[in-house]
Amino acid sequence: MKPMGPIPPYFTDQRELTIAGRTAADWVAEHGSPLFVYDVGIVAERVARLRAALPELCEIHFAIKANPLPAMLEAVAPMVGGLDVASGGELAKALKVKDAAHISFAGPGKRDAELEAAIVAGATLNLESEGEAERALTIGARLGIAPRLAVRVNPDFELRGSGMKMGGRASPFGVDVARVPALVRRLIDAGADWRGFHIFAGSQSLDTPAIVETQAATVALAARLADEIGVTPPLVNLGGGFGIPYFSGDLPVDVDTVGAALGEVLAARPERLADSKFAIELGRWIVGECGVYLTTVIDRKQSGEETFLVCDGGLNHQLAASGNFGTVVRRNYPVAVAGRMDAEPGDAVSVVGPLCTPLDRLADRVALPDAGPGDVIAVFLAGAYGASASPAAFLGHDPACEVVAGPAHP
Ligand SMILES: *Cc1c(COP(=O)(O)O)cnc(C)c1O
Repeated sequence: MKPMGPIPPYFTDQRELTIAGRTAADWVAEHGSPLFVYDVGIVAERVARLRAALPELCEIHFAIKANPLPAMLEAVAPMVGGLDVASGGELAKALKVKDAAHISFAGPGKRDAELEAAIVAGATLNLESEGEAERALTIGARLGIAPRLAVRVNPDFELRGSGMKMGGRASPFGVDVARVPALVRRLIDAGADWRGFHIFAGSQSLDTPAIVETQAATVALAARLADEIGVTPPLVNLGGGFGIPYFSGDLPVDVDTVGAALGEVLAARPERLADSKFAIELGRWIVGECGVYLTTVIDRKQSGEETFLVCDGGLNHQLAASGNFGTVVRRNYPVAVAGRMDAEPGDAVSVVGPLCTPLDRLADRVALPDAGPGDVIAVFLAGAYGASASPAAFLGHDPACEVVAGPAHP
């Protein structure tokens, strides 16, 4: 028997799994299986809680790569101050739901056509290198538009406890600290509309003190750079990195503590940043817990000492739960038998998908109530980096259906 992660609090204490007011069985009856259901009511509650915890001066941005489903963007866009995109495709989706003035575009390897689309729309480009900066300036000059440009800084520290480290070392992301002042001067001299700094030090951290410490270091770094350049950045994007509990023993980030500490840091910020605005950008913290992947048991089989529940969907839709997306050691996401949430668990079972690869394992030897063909298995924490981060074409099954549900989306 192996442990699994905690079921998000929105779905505990239920006899039959209910998502946005309807049972999993209902959702599957209407939309088929496998299926992702996202409850935007949960997203609204989380954003409101975070908004209340953060100082007013700090906006919340949604990094849409966590869940770029158009219906999700429509629901989330009004809840947040900005959208962060990472490709021309994401930019086009974001522009449908948010004013360009509140969209920023980060990511290495932006092509000229992507730079041009952002400049024409009036979105902010978070520049990843000097070369990209020159291309953006050239395109702006050709179009007769002063491009909105921010500089992504490769910080000289990293977010401790971060699942995905993005600072403190050589990186395809951002410009090394020592090179930033010269680049910002170049942008200003060339007549660009310089928007400030984007400083992203890591992702998926559950370490509240580390997040607090990193945010303080990020504000200090922005102040140091601004002093050296001698100009106030209009916006300092402090990155994000708030994780969610996926695995046994994980505890959530204490956002009240983070918000209070950031409030103190901003209240005491150096004069140079007096007129700056601030933002944090989050993906998985905002949407990760709102989504459930529902898949139906096709076969129950015994092999050796192990019992397998073979389901109609697997890593082709929800790669992350199989442990093959950004984790080193495979551990179990929380899963449940949707129709019997409150039943006593039986012997260990492994939940596997239909793909011909041993990687296709959604849960490894977990304690679940007795289940067999026709039962719906719920895989939680499927709201971020689920469908869009999975190899849907691999083995040629149909893509999973995705449904956005909740107060405004019946
Ligand atoms: C991916 C990404 C995010 C979102 O990360 P989460 O872990 O989903 O919060 C935010 N900012 C940048 C620059 C990113 O690349």
